Amino acid sequence: MPFTLDGDDAIQRVKPTPIPDPHWVAFSSSTAKLLNIPLNAHGMPLDEGWLSLLAGNVLHTQEYQFSNPIATVYSGHQFGVWAGQLGDGRAILLGDIQGQELQLKGAGITRYSRMGDGRAVLRSSIREFLCSEAMHGLGIPTSRALSVVGSDLPVRRETMETAAVCARVAPSFIRVGHFEHFASTQNIVKLKELADLLIEQHYQDCKQSDDPYLDLFKLISNRNARLVAQWQSVGFCHGVLNSDNISALGLTIDYGPFGFLDHFQIDHICNHSDQGGRYAYHRQPQIMHWNMACLASAFLPLLEMNHSDQEAKTLLTNALDEFASTYKHFWQDLFKRKLGLMNPQDHDIKLIEELLQLMHDSRADFTNSFRSLGAVKKSDEIASIALRNEFVNRAGFDQWLGRYLDRLQLESDDDHTRQIKMDAINPKFILRNHLAQKAIEKAQQRDFSEIATLLKILENPFHSQDGYEEYSLPPPPDLASIEVSCSS
Ligand code: AMP
Ligand code: MG
Repeated sequence: MPFTLDGDDAIQRVKPTPIPDPHWVAFSSSTAKLLNIPLNAHGMPLDEGWLSLLAGNVLHTQEYQFSNPIATVYSGHQFGVWAGQLGDGRAILLGDIQGQELQLKGAGITRYSRMGDGRAVLRSSIREFLCSEAMHGLGIPTSRALSVVGSDLPVRRETMETAAVCARVAPSFIRVGHFEHFASTQNIVKLKELADLLIEQHYQDCKQSDDPYLDLFKLISNRNARLVAQWQSVGFCHGVLNSDNISALGLTIDYGPFGFLDHFQIDHICNHSDQGGRYAYHRQPQIMHWNMACLASAFLPLLEMNHSDQEAKTLLTNALDEFASTYKHFWQDLFKRKLGLMNPQDHDIKLIEELLQLMHDSRADFTNSFRSLGAVKKSDEIASIALRNEFVNRAGFDQWLGRYLDRLQLESDDDHTRQIKMDAINPKFILRNHLAQKAIEKAQQRDFSEIATLLKILENPFHSQDGYEEYSLPPPPDLASIEVSCSS
C-alpha cells in the first residue's frame, strides 16, 4: 500500500463504480501466474468471481477480500508546465496480492477526477493491456496487465465509445508526482513517510546508507536512465512523459498514446496531441533527465534534514548530473549488443551512429533492420546482404556494410553464436500500431480473438513463430499513419 498514514487528503478510500454487463476482453495468464491465481485449462481463472472483481463490481473473490480500496493524490508537470494537483482520477488500488499492487484503471470517479468521468475506453484499455505485456516480453521494466473487462456503458470522447476496465499490476505505482505533491504542499512529514516507505519496501539497500535519501534519489534516477535507454533500443515512444507518469521504481507506466517506431525517424512524434514534439523519440532521454530534476527538487527538503541548504542542493545537483553518463553507458551497451559488437573497439559508437543516420535518411524499418543484421556472416559479400535493398542511399549503406564486415572480423564469436546473441536483443515482433488497431476494431465487434493472438506472439518477441510471419512486417502504406492522441 502506498501510504500508511491516513486522516488527510493524501488518499481517498473509494470503491470502484460498477459497470453493466461485464465481459472478458483480454486476460494474461502470465500475469495471473505472477499473482498465483489458480487457472483452468484455458488459462482463465478457476473462480468465476474474478470477472466481477476485475470489473470493479464486487470487492472479493472466493480467496481474496479487498476491504480498503483507495485512490492516491499526486501532482506534476504536464508538458513542462506545473499542473498542480492531479491524482488517481480513474485508477483505484484494490490492494496487494503476492507483493504486487492490483489497480483498476477506468473504475469510476474519485476525489481526484477533476472534470473527468473516471472511465477509460475499450480502445485505450486494449492498447495498455497489450503494450504492458509486450514490454514485459521484451524484458523492459513495466507495470503488468492482468485483464481488460468490457462493458456496454457508453463513454463520450470525440465520439461515443464504450467503457472498459484494465487491471494492472506493479510492486508499486508510486510516481515522481507523489513526491512533487508533498514537496509542493510543504507536507514534509508525508514526504518523508513516502520516501521511508519506498526504501522499506523497494530500496532496502538505502537503509544501510549514511545518506539514505540521496541514495534513494540516485537509485531512482539510475533505474529511469536505464529504462529510457531500453525504450530507445526497441524504438518505443512513451508519448506523455509528464512527471506524474514517471515511476519511482523505474517502470514503464501509464500507457496512453505510445507508439513503437516502424520506419526510423529520429524525431518521430507518436502522440498526435504533442504538436511541439516535446516527447519525440530523440528527446525522451533529455525529458527523463528533466523529470529527474523535478524529483531532485522534491527531494531537497529530505536532504535538508541532515545537511545545510547549500550542501543539500550541491549533493542533489551532482547526483542529477550523473544521469547523462549513466544513460550513455546503458545506451552504448545496448546498441553495441544490437550490432553484435561484443569485443569493444575504438570506433564502435561511431559505427552505431552512422547506421542510425543511414536508417533515418532511408526511413528503414527500425525493428527489422536490426533483426536482419543478426543474419550477416563474417564472410558475406556486400552485394549478397538483402538489407541493403531497404536503403535509398545504397552506396552509403554499402560503405557502412564494408566497415561493419571489417569490424565483425574482430569478434571472437562465430556467426551462429553471434546471431543467437543478437536475436536475443533485437526483437522480431513489436506492438506495431496497425496490429493493435486491427485487434481493437475486431474487439469493438465483440471478437476478442486478435487480442489473444497478439498477446501470444508478443509474449515471445525474440522468437520466430510459425504462421505469424506477417506480424513482423511493417505496416502497409495505407495503415502507416494511424494517429493516436491523449484521448483515452
Ligand atoms: P494521463 O494523461 O492519463 O496520465 O492522466 C492525467 C491525469 O488526468 C491523471 O491525474 C488522471 O487520473 C486524470 N485523468 C485522465 N483521464 C481521466 C478520466 N477519464 N477521468 C478522470 N480522471 C482522468
Ligand atoms: Mg497518468
